[in-house]
Amino acid sequence: MERARIRINGIVQGVGFRPFIHRLVSEHRLNGMIRNNSSGVEIELDGERSEIERFVEEIPLKAPGHALIKELKTEYGLPCAGYTGFTITESEREAERNTLISPDLCICDDCLRELFTRGDRRWHYPFINCTNCGPRFTIVRDVPYDRKNTSMVKFPMCPDCEREYRDILDRRYHAQPDACPVCGPRVLFYNAEGELQAEKEEAFRCVQELLAGGGIAAIKGLGGIHLACRADDPQCALRLRKRKQRDEKPFAVMCRDVETVKRYCEVTAEEEAVLTSAQRPIVLLRKKKELEERLQHLSDNKMLGVMLPYTPLHYLLFEHTDDMLVMTSANLSETPIISGNQEALEKLKGIADGYLLHDREIVTKCDDSLCAVEGGISFYRRSRGYVPYPITCSGFAHSVLACGAEQKATVCLTKGENAFLCQHIGDLKNAETYQHYLAQIRHFERMFDIKPEAVVCDMHPDYLSTEAAEMFSEENSLPLIRVQHHHAHMAACMADNGLTGEVIGLIWDGTGLGEDGTIWGGECLTGGYEGFRRAGSIRPIPLIGGDRAITEIERIAFALLREAGCEVQNSPQAEQYEKLLAGRTACPLSSGMGRLFDGAAAILGIRKTAGYEGQGAVLLEAAAYDNEEGLLPYDMKEENGLFLFDWRETVRALAGAVKNGTETGLSAARFMNTLIDMAVHQCKAVREQTDLKRVVLSGGCFQNLYLLRRLPEKLEKAGFEVYRHRQTACNDEGLALGQAAIAEAGWRKYVPGSALKTD
Ligand code: ZN
Ligand code: ZN
Ligand code: FE
Repeated sequence: MERARIRINGIVQGVGFRPFIHRLVSEHRLNGMIRNNSSGVEIELDGERSEIERFVEEIPLKAPGHALIKELKTEYGLPCAGYTGFTITESEREAERNTLISPDLCICDDCLRELFTRGDRRWHYPFINCTNCGPRFTIVRDVPYDRKNTSMVKFPMCPDCEREYRDILDRRYHAQPDACPVCGPRVLFYNAEGELQAEKEEAFRCVQELLAGGGIAAIKGLGGIHLACRADDPQCALRLRKRKQRDEKPFAVMCRDVETVKRYCEVTAEEEAVLTSAQRPIVLLRKKKELEERLQHLSDNKMLGVMLPYTPLHYLLFEHTDDMLVMTSANLSETPIISGNQEALEKLKGIADGYLLHDREIVTKCDDSLCAVEGGISFYRRSRGYVPYPITCSGFAHSVLACGAEQKATVCLTKGENAFLCQHIGDLKNAETYQHYLAQIRHFERMFDIKPEAVVCDMHPDYLSTEAAEMFSEENSLPLIRVQHHHAHMAACMADNGLTGEVIGLIWDGTGLGEDGTIWGGECLTGGYEGFRRAGSIRPIPLIGGDRAITEIERIAFALLREAGCEVQNSPQAEQYEKLLAGRTACPLSSGMGRLFDGAAAILGIRKTAGYEGQGAVLLEAAAYDNEEGLLPYDMKEENGLFLFDWRETVRALAGAVKNGTETGLSAARFMNTLIDMAVHQCKAVREQTDLKRVVLSGGCFQNLYLLRRLPEKLEKAGFEVYRHRQTACNDEGLALGQAAIAEAGWRKYVPGSALKTD
């Protein structure tokens, strides 16, 4: 007999970990105790060495699904302590802020069963939860994760709930948001005028009636409020678009269950696994071919963003409503998602015809996550269900605040090996969003007890994130590190995949400030965290009228065609463009790949203006979808050590195809195949010079599934190892992680005096 001490770090609180250990200990007939410590839990056991070893082996295999074991260390051979039974010791040091906080999780099967079991004391109770499910991140005000530090503090537990909470054998042992109809939150229904109409079951009847009648309902979820309406009626969707001033941007929908999803969309086994996961993101699915037209009012392309119900409230909602509801974030023009009851009643006046709210406060706004599933998850937005799970970055040793980009802003705060990337924030140019962004920095600092030692931002002087970084560094006398945009993208994908050393980075996005002061975005870089070299790019495109060309994409088409020496149709607009182009006035140069996509979409006549950012590229992808074969001609030359893709030849061919009446989808596919071929060529040329064989793909253009399905395969065939974003978004929302990684790697260079401290 001997004693062993086991230390486990990670997300092991608030996920049913201690009851699990308790069960496992009794299965193995061991004696001992468990207590929380500063970074997780500590277990001590008396017993035979072989039995303890078997116990330890089973921990990672049998741990609750939502636990995250980052480290497990066992010390054997200590003298027996004479434990009898198994005790849970409350630690005095619990206040130390080193534990992780779990993301919000969808309702579990056990709770779902109780929800629909007549006679259960939580039958039809919309806030049912347990240690395996329910709200977490969005209700936490402070740490440690304890009821008094959540928005559940205003609901004192009734004796029944209290008993469950204290019973280690109960599924609700230490479930902080535990509640029941007697003691917990309740739902409330308000009419369009904001008058309270009903509560509880009656509130559901009101909202179901409203939805069935074609009305628009505001519905409070986990991280914010949704606007919902019937998805089957184009008139409802149209009304919602008008009221929300969201003319063309696709809507996400919520379906009753997977079977319903399969009636509308193609669902692979891989997609189904993500749809039904506890994170419950919105998954972009291919509409059924025969339904494409019928679902056009929901999205303008071949894909539809679909999610399943994730709170008990959603499940109750679907008891008596349609199979599919539009569920879009309740916010107006780039402001943060609305999350407060009063806020909703004021701001959604004239938009919502009724409100299904509740009295549990949302502390932290958190939008639905959005992803596609194609050989793994591809995030467009990593938010609810995933945040604040840290990204493990081995080798990170400091605390850094990385401020991200601007339009798709996020921050990344690091502490040792943990990188905490915040949830979707939005466009900082909106004042409210900017305030929300600043508040999230403070919230993450407090939750994870992070005191940054350095601040990182983009090189762009006008980004509001840069302004925030400058302010923060000055206030706290911290070094400020400015990182080139595409270098940060490359580093983000590297850190996401745990890569070190040097790689080739294919970084394709819309806009980012280059080192030469022009706009970059079709880049082929080489290097690593420490630095980079621009090895390839695309011929710069003059943006007629600057930023206006980003929405009026026919301006890009015009510039491409003229530069390529093609004819353009005469019109007053054309004359104006011609003048601007000839004088090179208000025509900043951009090598942004996103712009080339926009231009191609406009040349092919798919769109003249973009109704939302990137629409040109999205519709180009949609048009190309089923087409495979063919390439257009292109040029690649080496100019000043740069492998430059010259698109003029390609544009001429594209214009020719339009003239010949070639099918648009075919041309769209050929255009993208050309870029894929070009990229492989570029990488091969760079490999000749550098011997680098690993390629990372980053930048918002890789949200394009046509590229993502084909480029990695082509590169692999050519002998490259290809890495894409796995845990983070490839667009600017993932940028902050790369900024942090660059700061870490160059610590001694960037942070004065750091070489003297520790090493
Ligand atoms: Zn549960
Ligand atoms: Zn209760
Ligand atoms: Fe970018």
